[in-house]
Amino acid sequence: MSTLTFNTKFKPNHGNVTELDDGIYRITANNRGPMTFEGTNTYLIGKENMAIIDPGPFDSDHLKVILNALEGRPLSHIFVSHTHKDHSPLAKELQSLTGATIYAEGPHRAARSLQAGENNLLTESSDLDFSPDVELSHGQIIDGGDWQIQAVHTPGHTANHCAFAYLERETLFSADHVMAWSTSFIGPPDGSMSDYMTSLKILIDRDDRHILPGHGPEVIAPKDFLLGLQKHRKSREQAILEAIKANDSLLISEIIGLVYQNLDERLKLAASLSTLAHLEDLVEQGEIKTNDTVSLKSRYQRV
Ligand SMILES: [Zn+2]
Repeated sequence: MSTLTFNTKFKPNHGNVTELDDGIYRITANNRGPMTFEGTNTYLIGKENMAIIDPGPFDSDHLKVILNALEGRPLSHIFVSHTHKDHSPLAKELQSLTGATIYAEGPHRAARSLQAGENNLLTESSDLDFSPDVELSHGQIIDGGDWQIQAVHTPGHTANHCAFAYLERETLFSADHVMAWSTSFIGPPDGSMSDYMTSLKILIDRDDRHILPGHGPEVIAPKDFLLGLQKHRKSREQAILEAIKANDSLLISEIIGLVYQNLDERLKLAASLSTLAHLEDLVEQGEIKTNDTVSLKSRYQRV
């Protein structure tokens, strides 16, 4: 049975460290917002030799809490899930203070090349200066002595998105790929819906007992939740397809009016981009067509 219930009950405990399990700590940055929920979760793992997953936004208060949480223990590894400004910018500062090595899939890049005249609306939220010391391949294991972290490439939200599996604990740090409080934002050209669906399948085929996201609380009953997410995306895709089939042609603004209920005004652009991600996928599959390039302004028609 796949069920999808979002959990928006979360106490971020800003300014403090929450010990989730022996040697797993969560520190939530105070950058709450419509896309970040209660703020970015930074995770600290280890007992003697420490690693950090997603240092977070450039915020001196958040940095202070992280440094205090280390309690003098060495920080050797900084893992970064992806290059959005709420996850990666503190990496460099933390490195200069601790000497830790920065690991990630790679620098920021879009999932596809820009079309003629296309303006990338996501550039402002991206950390274009980021570059890791070590680029991780899919499945690569990094041994930190008292812990082992495996890189799990999960493109979709961004092209360079990477989740991290803490193997001994059967725990996956899923960042923005899978979150308990909301669906993940997928917006072209940086994001790709077909990549996202493939990455979701990668997690469904794993057997992580715990999933700790980049925003909000732990995912409860991971397998059911992942199957629920998959079903949710497929039914959204189906709703878009049916809306287009029932009309001569539709603009994205008309599609979101038909497909989304009670859409928060602040999330209108996100919904438009998310719909564009589905349309790209549907055009690719040959289910629909457009007389122009696949863009925010085009009209979409049944085949
Ligand atoms: Zn993100």
